[in-house]
Amino acid sequence: MYETHYHRASSVEDAAALFAKGSDAKFLAGGQTLLPVMKQRLAAPTDVVDLAKIPAMIGVEVSGDTVTIKAATTHYDVATNTALQKTLPALAHLAGMIGDPAVRYRGTIGGSLANNDPAADYPAAVLALNATVKTNKRSISAEDFFKGLFTTALEDGEIITAVSFPVPAKAGYAKFRHPASRFALTGVFVAKSKSGDVRVAATGASQNGVMRVPSIEQALKANWSASALDGIKVSADGLMSDIHGAADYRANLIKVMAQRAVTEAG
Ligand SMILES: Cc1cc2nc3c(=O)[nH]c(=O)nc-3n(C[C@H](O)[C@H](O)[C@H](O)COP(=O)(O)OP(=O)(O)OC[C@H]3O[C@@H](n4cnc5c(N)ncnc54)[C@H](O)[C@@H]3O)c2cc1C
Repeated sequence: MYETHYHRASSVEDAAALFAKGSDAKFLAGGQTLLPVMKQRLAAPTDVVDLAKIPAMIGVEVSGDTVTIKAATTHYDVATNTALQKTLPALAHLAGMIGDPAVRYRGTIGGSLANNDPAADYPAAVLALNATVKTNKRSISAEDFFKGLFTTALEDGEIITAVSFPVPAKAGYAKFRHPASRFALTGVFVAKSKSGDVRVAATGASQNGVMRVPSIEQALKANWSASALDGIKVSADGLMSDIHGAADYRANLIKVMAQRAVTEAG
């Protein structure tokens, strides 16, 4: 047994102060990743600082051409937000495909991004939509945020407070789910910005976590249609091979999921 002190933070400032007081503190949001890790004794924090009830960290705001999702907003609340379903339906659709109902009721966007699991769904949307991750200290562009497997630009004690997404002209997400965990064996988010730029990001595929797919971006920029990708062959270099799928299988899944995502985006 080890002793852990639980603290429920009332504000972002309170959370940062409680974290600083602990000798080996961890933030807790939905607990869908941290609690299993603690149960397995892979983490044994002295202090757990709960962010889930901080009012300023919960909610979805649509204002003009920007969608802001506060970090402690659950996947369920993102999936069912009616303003988001109208403005950026691909993101609501993505949130509705995460895990199972229990995971969606507790898990949060901030927890998912801070954890940066190589098969998580949100990183693909954040990278393809060129979103900005807001913390209690700064704003971090999507390009600078993801640093590899389970690694981000966050410093010790830094809190993700919100993520802001520019509203695209078109966007879609498709994933080939692992049948047991529902994590992405490979998932692809495609986005066409209002200025005509195309960004495509794949999750579950690369050995380094979420990645952009330049060959698909170029093809879609020239012709935004699923058939524009018929002749594309994605390289398997640097992709994961494991018991669930070989690298060349994942390479093919990137193309197929991108085609489905474009079809969904319309
Ligand atoms: C059975 C199962 C199936 C799942 N399937 C999927 C899936 O299909 N797709 C998918 O994307 N994910 C999936 N997940 C993961 C799920 O989305 C989790 O919600 C997510 O990984 C972590 O979010 P959380 O809010 O639970 O974070 P927690 O577990 O509370 O925290 C995770 C980590 O992030 C840190 N953290 C949390 N919030 C913040 C913050 N605001 N600022 C800084 N650090 C923070 C914590 O300190 C911790 O290190 C699944 C999980 C389970 C258990």
